[in-house]
Amino acid sequence: MRIEEDIKLDFKDVLIRPKRSTLKSRAEVDLRRTYTFKNAQLSWTGIPIVAANMDHTGTPAVAKVLAEHHLLTALSKFVTKQDWETLRKTAPQVVAATMVSAGTSEHDFQRIHEAIQEADCPFICLDVANGYAQSFLDSVKRVRDAFPKKIILAGNVVTGEMTEELLIAGADIVKVGIGPGSVCTTRKKTGVGYPQLSAIIECADAAHGLKGHVCADGGCVVPGDVAKAFAAGADFVMLGGMLAGHDECLGELIHQGEQAFKRFYGMSSQEAMVKYHGQVAEYRSSEGKSVNVPYKGALRETILDILGGVRSTCTYVGAQTLKELPKRTTFIRVTQQINESLASYQVSG
Ligand code: 5GP
Repeated sequence: MRIEEDIKLDFKDVLIRPKRSTLKSRAEVDLRRTYTFKNAQLSWTGIPIVAANMDHTGTPAVAKVLAEHHLLTALSKFVTKQDWETLRKTAPQVVAATMVSAGTSEHDFQRIHEAIQEADCPFICLDVANGYAQSFLDSVKRVRDAFPKKIILAGNVVTGEMTEELLIAGADIVKVGIGPGSVCTTRKKTGVGYPQLSAIIECADAAHGLKGHVCADGGCVVPGDVAKAFAAGADFVMLGGMLAGHDECLGELIHQGEQAFKRFYGMSSQEAMVKYHGQVAEYRSSEGKSVNVPYKGALRETILDILGGVRSTCTYVGAQTLKELPKRTTFIRVTQQINESLASYQVSG
């Protein structure tokens, strides 16, 4: 047994120090980025925020709204062949902002083939809870061989050495995050995890050394966290909980008295496993929870709020483009972030 003594940081442990800036307005800030992916040898331009491939957020309706703002959506594994066909026929421009998601089973491999045959989306998101299994590297290699021209995301991991392995195996973007998610219980069930800000910093450093990219996945609760993830070196940021509870998300409204909610659950929760696999296999425990999130109406408003927040971060540090944000960031360690003294009286915002 070994103990690492240096402190690892989460979003809540830091703030971004303001810097002298010549920018006059948030409108001057450009959040679009252009990336060229080393393995796929393709370029992509857009705002690098991705809706998580959870069944609640990875829906065609979410993809349509996000595409309007040049954001991406990782459609969930449970989107059908027919859904892909409908999307291609009715909104081909949206397909260009989507990812097909899959695990490592043979069935999932076939699912990628089907979705790409149907709609030819540019990204493949290979998603497993534990990206440290040697067999996952073999899966990434297999998908790379089968789809040489697709942009492959693979994860999740939280350390530099595994980020490098995945890039060498053929991934273009490594998904970073073990345990930070809003409906994740991995840390509780297993004691395994890594504070997300440090994970991003360390994995981004490793990836950029190989001309690869990283996608910070999980743990963003407010727009400021999205900004911190980019400032820490994330090339993409994936969001689940922040996008949950909207009209475009899966699930009916649940009314409780005056308030409305939507059901949101982890993809490894008991609820998801029973829904999609009929049961929780005996050898495993669930590593996700179910919650009723307050209903938030149209997703567009939330997207504008997030983009406005990140633009504002850029103006505070004098970054005219999102690309400049990490270069102009100094994180300061803090013990307190937000004044919550009137939190219980809040009526909006
Ligand atoms: P959030 O933005 O909600 O904090 O995090 C979203 C991420 O949580 C997803 O993209 C995925 O990586 C992760 N996640 C989703 N469902 C589960 C689950 O059931 N268990 C765990 N450990 N992580 C989950």
